[in-house]
Amino acid sequence: MKIYDIAVIGAGPAGCMAAIQGAQQGKNVTLLEKNDRIGYKLSLTGNERCNLTNTATMEVFLEKFGRRGSFYRDAFSKFSNQDLMNFFIKHNLELKEEEEGKIFPITEKARSVVEVLEKVLDEEKVKLIYNYPLEHLHKTSNVFKLSSIEGEFINAYNVIIATGGVTYGFTGSTGDGLTIAEFLGHTITDLKPGGVPLRVREEWIHQLKGVTLENVGLTIGYNGKKIDLPRGNLLLTHFGVSGPIILDMSHIIVGLMKEHGDLKLYIDFMPEIRKDALGVLLMEDFQKYSKKSLKNYLKHHLPNNLIIPILNTLIIDPQKKLNQITKKERLQLQEILKSLPLTIYGHLPMDKAMVTCGGVSKKEIDPQTMESKLVKGLYFAGEIIAGCGGRGGYNLQQAFSTGYVAGVSATK
Ligand SMILES: Cc1cc2nc3c(=O)[nH]c(=O)nc-3n(C[C@H](O)[C@H](O)[C@H](O)COP(=O)(O)OP(=O)(O)OC[C@H]3O[C@@H](n4cnc5c(N)ncnc54)[C@H](O)[C@@H]3O)c2cc1C
Repeated sequence: MKIYDIAVIGAGPAGCMAAIQGAQQGKNVTLLEKNDRIGYKLSLTGNERCNLTNTATMEVFLEKFGRRGSFYRDAFSKFSNQDLMNFFIKHNLELKEEEEGKIFPITEKARSVVEVLEKVLDEEKVKLIYNYPLEHLHKTSNVFKLSSIEGEFINAYNVIIATGGVTYGFTGSTGDGLTIAEFLGHTITDLKPGGVPLRVREEWIHQLKGVTLENVGLTIGYNGKKIDLPRGNLLLTHFGVSGPIILDMSHIIVGLMKEHGDLKLYIDFMPEIRKDALGVLLMEDFQKYSKKSLKNYLKHHLPNNLIIPILNTLIIDPQKKLNQITKKERLQLQEILKSLPLTIYGHLPMDKAMVTCGGVSKKEIDPQTMESKLVKGLYFAGEIIAGCGGRGGYNLQQAFSTGYVAGVSATK
């Protein structure tokens, strides 16, 4: 009966890196993948250009993973963003830096990243077994017994589960590893979507699909409390809102929605000016340009396609001259320019999210080795671990770093 030193489950970035590291230390490694290829999701990342990592500092990396981000300090030091870049450069894939420190392959093709992993897995003689959907895993004395849905059995002294989260299920990430981890006694934290667009109740917004509101201020309101989001671009869609800020903050917003129900999203079209100063400006302008129509005047302050819909919600005639606007209407305009309220009532389904926030509880994983604190010889790597990072290459770095640490640790 053959017993592998290490069996890695799932050939995404985390599993591939874990298998490569295990094999480089001279271990007998098998990588089991339910698809007929490696890195399906990886090949779709960054609009198929793959935002591999980021040049940000360690502190920024940890911040991007939220409250328990410091869990990754060890993994990010053992295999840093620079180490990851060196890995690909060493294997002849040049990289380039874009805005906000995002790193992409110079080919602008995620496929090139997958090809490097394929090549290195082959060079390191990792035994790749495709079409192997792991269904069951249990340990008897010091050996793990793995079985697929078709009942193919494999034995290994160490197992690394790197089956990803539960989004984009068609790529293979359907949460199988979470079921197996739970069966082995692990706690699975609440699974929330990360990087997901949000649904807005106000239907007039849906008509404005494709419009980007540039550099607006955004605030979330719930239960009498307010949270300011970073300033940035907001994309309007046929169901609500998306764009970088929403995708980055969606896991927090979804969490608040679960607790408090519908939320308000306030849009500040003029974040560089205080509300009282805007009041004075409007008063002066309305005198100065008294013969101008309101519709024409608002072009200075609002994107063109929003003027009529917003005036409709306020029931103000867009053709009215500025000297006909009542004080009440002027105050309403002041309010709406600083704080247009939209109602957030939901999000696109989990499967459409970029990442799964939630997974195997970090409390049950040793951050130095990625080994389970409950089952000796069992390791976790990648998105299966609870929590998630923001956009910008942070999630792939997490997958590669935790894969590296799990792979190296499983050889010891
Ligand atoms: C559209 C999209 C774009 C993205 N873009 C970026 C980006 O540009 N930058 C970034 O940092 N992050 C990005 N992400 C997130 C990133 O892709 C993930 O965080 C990352 O792929 C997680 O890696 P992983 O190895 O943990 O899991 P996955 O990549 O999900 O791989 C898991 C593997 O396990 C296999 N598997 C699952 N169950 C079993 C089983 N029972 N038996 C055998 N094999 C199994 C799956 O088939 C899959 O191959 C993006 C995500 C999406 C959906």
